[in-house]
Amino acid sequence: MRIAVLRERRPGERRVALLPEQIPQLLEAGVDVSVESDAGAEVGASDEAYRAAGAEVGEDVLEDVNAVLSVQPINLSTARRLSEGTVTISFLPTAEEGPLVRRLRERQITSFSMDLVPRTSRAQPMDAMSSQSMVAGYRGAIVAAERLPRFFPMFMTSAGTVRPAKVLVLGAGVAGLQAIATARRLGAVVQAYDVRRSSAEEIASLGAKFVEVDLPPLEGEGGYAREMTEERSTRQRELLAPHVADADVLITTASVPGRQAPLLVTAEMVAGMRPGSVVVDLAADQGGNVAGSIPGQELSVDGVLVWGGSNVASQLPRPASELYAHNVVNLFLLMVRAGDLHLDFDDDILAAACVTHAGRITHRPTLELLG
Ligand code: NAD
Repeated sequence: MRIAVLRERRPGERRVALLPEQIPQLLEAGVDVSVESDAGAEVGASDEAYRAAGAEVGEDVLEDVNAVLSVQPINLSTARRLSEGTVTISFLPTAEEGPLVRRLRERQITSFSMDLVPRTSRAQPMDAMSSQSMVAGYRGAIVAAERLPRFFPMFMTSAGTVRPAKVLVLGAGVAGLQAIATARRLGAVVQAYDVRRSSAEEIASLGAKFVEVDLPPLEGEGGYAREMTEERSTRQRELLAPHVADADVLITTASVPGRQAPLLVTAEMVAGMRPGSVVVDLAADQGGNVAGSIPGQELSVDGVLVWGGSNVASQLPRPASELYAHNVVNLFLLMVRAGDLHLDFDDDILAAACVTHAGRITHRPTLELLG
């Protein structure tokens, strides 16, 4: 059996799906590896390093492969070249990738989406949503520290005492908790809010203060947040406004599965912040938690810097690729038995993450959407 690792083609994507370090493990499992030239160029993994680890490296790696690994979804022309029964593994946000999903179905390709790996204990080693959110949360705090025209930590010097920066994090999932931890390590005073019941304890365990507001928790299926009603949104914004105004740094990470990110901070709330404050919206790609934030752009709004995240994990491509590669290999090895491809759809992880198989869309919400 042979797998191919592609060079990423989407603008701004700097990660790679596999590093030379994982190749011996694959060879041992009976899987040969072909890597497209320059696939690891952005993360310091040279073609020579892949070759030295046992891979073949070349320009055309699609011939006779059983599986294709990538970070972003493959493009339509790559899908056209794959033979029936080939497996693809990548992020595959199906709502945005209708034409590709239809092409994968038509070509009888078995596609798996890293976005759909369940959040169960057994699936943790394959949970790329978490690993990449962790990278994004760290990056968000570092961007804020770098852009803020003041220190994060308190300094007591002979020239006087400098107060620490006040950081507010809204949304304390994987990215938010990492942003909190990073800002704390840099010495900031951190407060955070999330709608989930369990978040208060998690926030406190990182040495940050949970912002108490007079609103009930908002939890839906599987411990995830639910979408807010308009009334709740307005009330939440009113209650959070004074905390936003008091922050030097605001980092937002809130999202709700399958929905546009909730608007947590209005333009008026941004205008209420002190000039020189920094806003980092890590949900900008999903519609934004902050009014006016634009993915991939840094704007000055009434003297407040508003940084809109865009594929933020890719801005730290080396660790993001290391973690993603582990996730992807762990998922792929669930499909390998004695060096052959063996797809066991009684395995709940494979069943949940599969989008198309044998000419059908197997992921029910995608099927309902695309028909
Ligand atoms: P996410 O990226 O979907 O959302 C980020 C955070 O935004 C969440 O914590 C959510 O509660 C919060 N949020 C949503 N609406 C909000 C609002 N209006 N105001 C404030 N906050 C709001 O979440 P995630 O990081 O993927 O994690 C979601 C959940 O999954 C968490 O409970 C997390 O602990 C859990 N999880 C479990 C596993 C596992 O068991 N394997 C792995 C990862 C995450």
